[in-house]
Amino acid sequence: MNPLTIRMHARDNVAIVANDGGLAAGTALPSGPILREAVPQGHKVALADLPAGVPVLRYGIPIGYALKDILAGSWVHERLLDMPVARGLDQLPMASVRPAVQPPLEGYTFEGYRNADGSVGTRNILAITTTVQCVAGVLDHAVQRIKAELLPQYPNVDDVVGLEHGYGCGVAIEADDAEIPIRTLRNISLNPNFGGEVMVVSLGCEKLQPERLLPPGSIPITDGRSNELDVVCLQDEVHVGFLSMIDDILQTARRHLDRLNARRRVTVPANELVVGVQCGGSDAFSGVTANPAVGYCTDLLVRAGASVMFSEVTEVRDAIDQLTARAATPEIAEAMVRQMAWYDAYLQRGRVDRSANTTPGNKKGGLSNIVEKAMGSIIKSGTAPISGVLPPGEKLRQKGLVFAATPASDFICGTLQLAAGMNLHVFTTGRGTPYGLAAVPVIKVATRSDLARRWHDLMDVNAGSIADGAKNIEEVGWELFHLMLDVASGRRKTWAEQWKLHNALVLFNPAPVT
Ligand code: CA
Repeated sequence: MNPLTIRMHARDNVAIVANDGGLAAGTALPSGPILREAVPQGHKVALADLPAGVPVLRYGIPIGYALKDILAGSWVHERLLDMPVARGLDQLPMASVRPAVQPPLEGYTFEGYRNADGSVGTRNILAITTTVQCVAGVLDHAVQRIKAELLPQYPNVDDVVGLEHGYGCGVAIEADDAEIPIRTLRNISLNPNFGGEVMVVSLGCEKLQPERLLPPGSIPITDGRSNELDVVCLQDEVHVGFLSMIDDILQTARRHLDRLNARRRVTVPANELVVGVQCGGSDAFSGVTANPAVGYCTDLLVRAGASVMFSEVTEVRDAIDQLTARAATPEIAEAMVRQMAWYDAYLQRGRVDRSANTTPGNKKGGLSNIVEKAMGSIIKSGTAPISGVLPPGEKLRQKGLVFAATPASDFICGTLQLAAGMNLHVFTTGRGTPYGLAAVPVIKVATRSDLARRWHDLMDVNAGSIADGAKNIEEVGWELFHLMLDVASGRRKTWAEQWKLHNALVLFNPAPVT
């Protein structure tokens, strides 16, 4: 076996071991040092002697400082590193970088469902919105009946999804931040994959009344239908017995299914894609293989005029100077700083900081700390100027590369990107997660060939081929781009869709619970 190490930047004084199973003590590395001890796959090896206190450089930046003398060929793990403090939010470079303008990418299309509000769906799904968790059991029963009894009569409808969530009355609904989960639910109900067919199941006595969730005018209606909200209220006096509630939901669903079923895919330009990218279960390869390939694809999408969101505040916080520098205008850079400052304060309430992000699996995969993780994470955003900042739960109304401020939690990030109007999701993973969403296709990209081999029927793209030397970043980036057009068109299903794997919607509710 040829020893294979990957160094990300000419300044780096560490490299990661790429070989499956890691490398044994005594292995001579092509770059010079002989391993003084066994180094697991994805973990760092010192390329030179690192005296105590010197910066340990990966991606060309300090990911930590040596806590003691580290000899060349040693395993550089997190217990040998002192983590840098987070950069302050003042005196940042604001819109100082002018990335080279990339030529537009023209002629790429997909087959999508055009909506009345101009957005485009990649799937044709009946979503049933709920105002409160209390109705979830009833709705779930109804959804099972709809799937079994109604859906077979509507061959053009892909699925029916109950938008179940944990939001109940025990929430201080007038608190400042309470608007975040409310607008998240509102905007998810209007996701392009639901075709503008909004129906609500309500309990009746909840704090979040249907009219507050979806006020008049929030649902775009163009075909002369009544714009009255379609609500099934379980406490309504017409309901005598459980089955009358179910019948009511089924009858209401039928009206929406009739209209959804009449829709057809049409050819639309690739600029109608609204792509959310995120990562989960990251390892040291995330920033070497999958995220660079996604970043290359992000640039292709931006060149094609599409919208791309990257998110996960705690995973970009340590790269804030790179991001404010890449903002298209000083105002956008300032908006980014405001989101970071809000999140710093939010974490401070719990007396933690962004370093609470890393997991045992991240560390086992070679990521020493959040700085190293963040440097690998932001590569998903590619190289385009950042043309907007979206607060959590808001709907995206622009093209180009946008920072959508969300927690890094896979489910909360995915939920907020759905609210933003995402119609396609790209998810990179190194440790492996079977993540999926019911409302939107999720394309999963593996960072390592070993994961792609073992999880061959869960991972859609293997970016590990980049570390193996079989493909380069551009090739995997293009492969992902073409797969996205196929998946968006319904010609291909993701593995998560084939197995019907989907995680819960998880609302971001920073407001107090009563
Ligand atoms: Ca995540």
